[in-house]
Amino acid sequence: MQVWAISNQKGGVGKTTTAMSLGSMLAADGKRTLLVDMDPHASLSGYIGVEGGAHGSVYDLFGVSSLPLPVGTLVHATQWDRLSVLPASAAMITLDRHLGTKPGMGLVLSQALAELAPDFDHVLLDCPPTLGVLMVNALAASDRLLVPTQTEALALAGLERMLRSLSMIERSRGKPMPRTIVPTLYDARTHASRACLAQLREKYEGIVSEAVIPTDTQIREASAAGVPLASWPASRRGGQAYRQLLAELLAMSSSSVTDAAA
Ligand code: ADP
Ligand code: MG
Repeated sequence: MQVWAISNQKGGVGKTTTAMSLGSMLAADGKRTLLVDMDPHASLSGYIGVEGGAHGSVYDLFGVSSLPLPVGTLVHATQWDRLSVLPASAAMITLDRHLGTKPGMGLVLSQALAELAPDFDHVLLDCPPTLGVLMVNALAASDRLLVPTQTEALALAGLERMLRSLSMIERSRGKPMPRTIVPTLYDARTHASRACLAQLREKYEGIVSEAVIPTDTQIREASAAGVPLASWPASRRGGQAYRQLLAELLAMSSSSVTDAAA
């Protein structure tokens, strides 16, 4: 089982869209795929039509107000074959206040996912834009971090914050975390977009994906309709870019498995 966290300490950069798009493509390719909504805003859950409030959510793994619920009872099938979801709920926003510095709370998600390992090939974690107990859990549970980064100058600050948080978490996890910066909302017609992409490639050489996700109104329309990109017939440019990204990521994860075995 491969676990990828999709995170950036900035909203509106395409995290949820990336999780949905890659998840739906993996499932369409025959992989048993779980999307975990780690964001209390629950946009991924809303997008996919599973309300975490009523059905239980990531919140219930932590055992705040009652005993923790077994993760298997919180995972739901979606209307798409092989695509399941562990939804979010608004209560998750209180986790930092309730758990604060309680020991062992950073590994709750890792332990839950370990129980699901026989059932899934891929897990994608859609993270909140804040550094807290949810982000710490997501990074502790992941094999790779994807950082969708909007190709505009202001986005670089969010990226740097994210990479600083990651170094902190890496120190406690005691091993490096492979990372991939994914340029998003790219508009080749604007100088600002082109300049920002060039700057990303120069400053973060080697960790920026070749695939660049364009601004594509079809992506917006598919998400407004609650349809993952893999099933959205009109999607061409956006869909192709996410396909290319997925192929790159799968190639990287298979080479890191080979490295580990060597
Ligand atoms: P985040 O999860 O980082 O807050 P979202 O994935 O929810 O960001 O994207 C924010 C908004 O931008 C959504 O309305 C989404 O449909 C839209 N969006 C995301 N990626 C693209 C894209 N490549 N082209 C056009 N619209 C996009
Ligand atoms: Mg989101």
